[in-house]
Amino acid sequence: MLLILTVALVTSVITGAVFVRKYRKRLKNISKHLARLTGLSVDTTPWYQLEQLKQRLKDLEERIRRLQSDKENDMKIMDAITDGLLIVEEDGRIVFANERSKQFFDMPELQGRKVHEIPETYPILEGIKRALKTGESQEFDTSLHRKEHRDVRVMVIPVELSDGEKYTVVVIRDITNEREAERMLREFVADVTHELRTPLTSIHGYAETLLADGLKDQEMAKHFLEIIEKESARMGRLINDLLDLERLETGRIKLMKEPLKLKSAVKRVLSVVKPLGEELGVRIHTELDEDVYVFGDYDRIVQMILNLVDNAIKYTSVKEHGDKEVFIRVYRNEKGEGILEVEDTGIGIPKSAQNKLFRRFYRVDKHRSRKLGGTGLGLAITKEIADKHGARLEFESEAGIGTIFRVFFPPCRGDEDEYAGNNKEKT
Ligand code: ADP
Repeated sequence: MLLILTVALVTSVITGAVFVRKYRKRLKNISKHLARLTGLSVDTTPWYQLEQLKQRLKDLEERIRRLQSDKENDMKIMDAITDGLLIVEEDGRIVFANERSKQFFDMPELQGRKVHEIPETYPILEGIKRALKTGESQEFDTSLHRKEHRDVRVMVIPVELSDGEKYTVVVIRDITNEREAERMLREFVADVTHELRTPLTSIHGYAETLLADGLKDQEMAKHFLEIIEKESARMGRLINDLLDLERLETGRIKLMKEPLKLKSAVKRVLSVVKPLGEELGVRIHTELDEDVYVFGDYDRIVQMILNLVDNAIKYTSVKEHGDKEVFIRVYRNEKGEGILEVEDTGIGIPKSAQNKLFRRFYRVDKHRSRKLGGTGLGLAITKEIADKHGARLEFESEAGIGTIFRVFFPPCRGDEDEYAGNNKEKT
C-alpha cells in the first residue's frame, strides 16, 4: 500500500515538473512574441508587455478611425465638385466615381463597373485608350442624353503610380450653358445681320434705280425716295433699340430712380400716341388712379409704357372688324403694388407664340411687324426695364379677342424719405 502511494506521489511530482517546464517554455514563447510586437525587451514581465500591447491596439484603432474620417471627408469634397470624376484602372474598371458622375450617367453606382458597361461612354473609352497608349492627357467634347441632353467636355489624364500601375483620371464638365450662350450669340448676330440687310438691300436697290434713270419720272422718284427714307428710319430705330437693349443688359445705362407718379408717365405717353391712335382709328381710354407711385427712372418708365401702348394700338389697328379700343389703367392692388395695365381688343397672340414673346427679334408675323415699323425688340426692352425696376411683366392674350399686359411695380409710398440715400440709385 505504501509502495503504491509512493509510486503515485513520485509520478505526480514528475508530471508536475514536466507540466511546469512546458508552461514556462510556452510563457517564454508568448513573451518573445509579445516583445516582438511591443518592441520591448524579452525580460520585461509579460503583464507589462500585455498592457503595452493593449495601448498599441488602442492607438491603432484611433489611427484607423482617423483615416476613415479623412477618407469620408475626401469623398465629401469629391462629391461637392461640380465636375464628374472617375478613376479608372488600366483594364477599364472604375475604382472611384463621385456623385456628379453618377448623375451624368443616371446610374446609382459606378464603382466596380467597367467603363464599356455604361451606356454612351464610347468616346470616353476611346479617350482612355488614347491616354494610356500615348501617356498624354486627352480633351474632347461630346454629349450625353441620359435624363436630358447635356453637352460635356471630357478630360482624360493618365497617371502612373510608383509601383508601375496605370490609372486614368476622367473629368467630365457640363458645358451645356456655355454652348447655349454661344448658340444664342450666333443666332443674335445672324438676326441682326438679317434685320439690317433687308432695309439696306431695299435702299440700295431704289437708289440704283433712281441713279439709272428714275429721276426722269418725278412721281416715281418721289415714291422711291419715300421708301428710302422709311427704310433708313427703320434701320435707325433698329440700331437705337439694339443699343438700348445692350446698355440695359450690361448695366451701362444709369437709372436715375426716384419716386414718381405713374399717371404722369402715362400722360407723357398719351401725348405721343394720341395722333397715332387717331390716324389708325383706335380709341384710347384711360382710368388712372391719382396716388400710385413707383420708384423708377422716368425716361425708362415712359419708354416701357410707350412700347406697350404703341403695340396695343398697332396690333389693334390691323384687325379687320370689331371694336378697335385700347384701355390704359393705373391702380394699386391689395398688396400695395402699383399696376400699369394696357388692354386692347386687337388681333391677340396665339398660344403657340406666347412663351417666345420676350425673345429678341421674335415676332408672330414678321412681315406684318415690319410693315408696322416694328423692330422685334420692343418687348425684350420692356422686359429688361421691368426687371431693372424689380417689376413683374405679365400678359394674357387670346387670338382674335385681344391682349392685356400688366406691369406690377413694388409698393412705393411716394415720399422721398422712403428712399433716402437710395435715391438717384445707379443701376
Ligand atoms: P415689334 O417691334 O414687332 O412690335 P415687339 O417686341 O414689341 O416687336 O413685339 C413682339 C411681337 O409680339 C410682335 O411682333 C407681335 O407679334 C406680338 N405683340 C406684341 N404686342 C402685341 C399686342 N398688343 N397684340 C398682339 N400682338 C402683340
